[in-house]
Amino acid sequence: MSLTQKIELPTVTYEQPLGLFINNEFVKGEKGQTIDVINPATEEVITKVHEATKEDVDRAVKVARETYNKVWKDTTANERGRLLFKLADLIERDLLILASIESLDNGKSISMAKGDVAAVAGCIRYYAGWADKIHGKVVETDAHKFNYTKIEPIGVVGQIIPWNFPLLMFAWKIGPALATGNTVVLKTAEQTPLSALYAAKLVKEAGFPAGVLNVLSGYGKTAGQAIAEHMDIDKIAFTGSTGVGREILKASANSNLKKVTLELGGKSPNVVFADADIEAAIDWANFGVFFNHGQTCCAGTRIFVQETIYDKFIETFKAKAEKNAVGDPFHDKTFQGPQVSKVQFDRIMGYIDQGKECGAKLVCGGGRKGDKGYFIEPTIFADCKADMTIMKEEIFGPVAAIAKFKDIDDLVHMANDTSYGLAAGVHTKDLKTAITVADKLKAGTVWINQYNALHHALPFGGYKESGIGRELGKAALANYTQVKTVSINLEGHPSGW
Ligand code: ADP
Repeated sequence: MSLTQKIELPTVTYEQPLGLFINNEFVKGEKGQTIDVINPATEEVITKVHEATKEDVDRAVKVARETYNKVWKDTTANERGRLLFKLADLIERDLLILASIESLDNGKSISMAKGDVAAVAGCIRYYAGWADKIHGKVVETDAHKFNYTKIEPIGVVGQIIPWNFPLLMFAWKIGPALATGNTVVLKTAEQTPLSALYAAKLVKEAGFPAGVLNVLSGYGKTAGQAIAEHMDIDKIAFTGSTGVGREILKASANSNLKKVTLELGGKSPNVVFADADIEAAIDWANFGVFFNHGQTCCAGTRIFVQETIYDKFIETFKAKAEKNAVGDPFHDKTFQGPQVSKVQFDRIMGYIDQGKECGAKLVCGGGRKGDKGYFIEPTIFADCKADMTIMKEEIFGPVAAIAKFKDIDDLVHMANDTSYGLAAGVHTKDLKTAITVADKLKAGTVWINQYNALHHALPFGGYKESGIGRELGKAALANYTQVKTVSINLEGHPSGW
């Protein structure tokens, strides 16, 4: 099978790399296996990519280790930043190609995909800026000692990313890892390998030394597991389901205790108080749950509405959701494309069936849209109760569950009644209510009068079972660095000996 393929799309024609990206070259997998890449809008095979097996993970880790020891460790922070700035520029240059790949492979609408790629460039540039601003400290203890700390890279980092934001997750991972001086072996999700392979080509063009970043297409159970268990990977960063997050922790415990950060699932509350700007709150609620087809770990899927505006809210929200344009990802006006895969489509339809059977009120949607492609109607359930599966489990699709609350105490109890704690939204015009509720919600991010307002400068991550560690912002630098303390004795012997 070839290592590249010309792909013609409504927006662009481009050359798609298909190999594993190891040591700045696209190569075949050792076992010669391939993965079919499916277009979720048509259910047809777009192409095949080379599949990484354990042997390829070993190969990539060996290269990453050698590059770390011989080249990258001694590359100046300023040079690391320069390379990342260059990469951000190249991503912007090829924004339309990258956005089109995301629409093709993931099914997200072209307008949202363009937003994703702009955010990718912003994120890489943000971490480029950090590269030469990471310093240790002098710590004073007593007159005869001189102590300082150094912030060092961890070494070889394994990164495993999901399919919902293929390129954005790539950027969130490689930005801080490379800025802080680590080398990387990154595995993409088997459903969406294409955009990271194209970005890998840009990594080479930007001038990164061979072996600094290695990108593998592969399955979780094989290549992913091999990364998680690898004895020569010093740290692993994972984004995906809570179940697999547990497997990653176990693999670390059973191998070399590699450091672990996890960004996992959510069942986030989005709260609308009676005094909110209702039209705006409905727009944010719609965006909060249906953005990216509901395939967002922080999606505001449990919508709590204060009882005095409950009926009005549902009526207006229904009208809004029914206007969401669902269809061809390459159409400019499309808001919602297909779900990423048949597996996800079936899973979501299963949850919708449970919602219909458990006594929740189906307000709109609830069915498949069209007969080709994994399209699902925006679906809203109302009168949901805490013990319903659709209120408890992450659906990862365009499905909202609405419940009624009376006052702040009532709301806080309901909103926190989940094993997750990734994000939350609060809509109110009252500053005291906003701040009081934000303080009481057990979530890594609380958005006031907005939702899904992620920014590369703002830390993002989970309370409870939504994860370990924080991505983005300065906080993410800690994931990829370790502190070395150096203490110099200027005078004296051990006292009393
Ligand atoms: P989803 O259920 O949304 O597909 P997953 O958590 O299964 O999310 O997948 C997220 C990423 O984790 C993907 O890159 C996938 O290949 C990888 N993965 C899945 N299972 C494992 C595993 N056992 N070990 C390591 N990585 C895995």
